[in-house]
Amino acid sequence: MNSGNRKSENLKFRTRAIHVGNEPDPASGAVIPPVHFASTFRQPGAGEWGEFDYSRSGNPTRAALERSLASLEGGCGGLAFSSGMAAIHCVTMLLESGDHIVAGCDLYGGAYRLFHKICSRAGISVSLVDMTDAEAVEAAMRPETRLVWAETIGNPLFTIPDLTEIAEIAHRRDALIGVDNTFGSPVLVRPLEFGIDIVMHSATKYLGGHSDCLGGTLATHDKGLLDRLYYVQNATGAVLDPMTCFLVSRGLKTLDVRVREQSRSAMELAVWLQQHSRVRRVLYPGLPEHPGHETAARQFGGLFGAMLCFEVDGSFEQTKRVCNATELFGLAVSLGAVESLIEQPASMSHASYDAADRARFGISDGLIRLSIGLEDVDDLRADLEQALGKIG
Ligand SMILES: *Cc1c(COP(=O)(O)O)cnc(C)c1O
Repeated sequence: MNSGNRKSENLKFRTRAIHVGNEPDPASGAVIPPVHFASTFRQPGAGEWGEFDYSRSGNPTRAALERSLASLEGGCGGLAFSSGMAAIHCVTMLLESGDHIVAGCDLYGGAYRLFHKICSRAGISVSLVDMTDAEAVEAAMRPETRLVWAETIGNPLFTIPDLTEIAEIAHRRDALIGVDNTFGSPVLVRPLEFGIDIVMHSATKYLGGHSDCLGGTLATHDKGLLDRLYYVQNATGAVLDPMTCFLVSRGLKTLDVRVREQSRSAMELAVWLQQHSRVRRVLYPGLPEHPGHETAARQFGGLFGAMLCFEVDGSFEQTKRVCNATELFGLAVSLGAVESLIEQPASMSHASYDAADRARFGISDGLIRLSIGLEDVDDLRADLEQALGKIG
């Protein structure tokens, strides 16, 4: 938990990503701050406490990452967790038995499982709604609704909620609103600027950016809320370790360049896939015909992200064949790294959904999801072309 630095507020995003939380070490002059592996810290005297005492409660390397995060999201503070799920779980632990969550219907599979299978054990219920339909969100709100949970870019259909609109609905009913900004990254959108209370990331994805670490983050602009979240985190213990904090901090320095370049390639591939004879439809918010295009254009500052889906003209088995045939695109869940990835939501990322919910929310057997990396776009196009040829 750490408050932002006043002076840095005037710096641009990319500059802050490199400098805030990365102040040189005064002891050695090292340009990169040292990684603090200590689990405990000597105190000035018995019963007197220094800035750090025990690493679960606070660690200098973690504090530095939390400071960068808060700065990039425009919050008063941030928290770094051992995974994205640990971060979402921390938010749900603000709730009590009898409380209710309203969440987006094309939710990350792990969040779906957490809400339905774990929160339910604590007497917390959840309703799923289309977050782009303000009336539906309004109608799903109950007197006991304490949390609204959405994704800035839904998964895997890329629905784009109007953040200002859903924040107003939540606040009119005195509910908190949190959003998962993993797919968007703070390069595309900083939800706190739209009145959202809590922004969450799986740092495993774009923030880390290299498929080499697991982490999660929360940021908020409400000091009281930050204190409550920190209390839960410290009491339950799912903190991010110093080495991974260092990796995420390093990832943040190139976040802006990576996401911009990856978004450019995604746009190019979306347009190309659209005219491919074996492709039924392409889901990408950058395409003018995508239902979320206008909201995305307004909220995302001209970028549309580096995730896209397309539906092949084929069966469940034929779709699998395409996913199995790519060479550059790795067949794997996860996303947001420099390596491009491919997967079939129905059998992989969204297998934890009930079959009925998959059908209801349009997660069809022919759907393929791509995470566009930093490879040359010509090579990526050629790889998809040869894989689509395997449909037969
Ligand atoms: C990966 C992911 C998560 C969960 O994060 P972990 O780091 O895997 O725990 C949550 N939301 C979204 C959108 C994700 O892609």
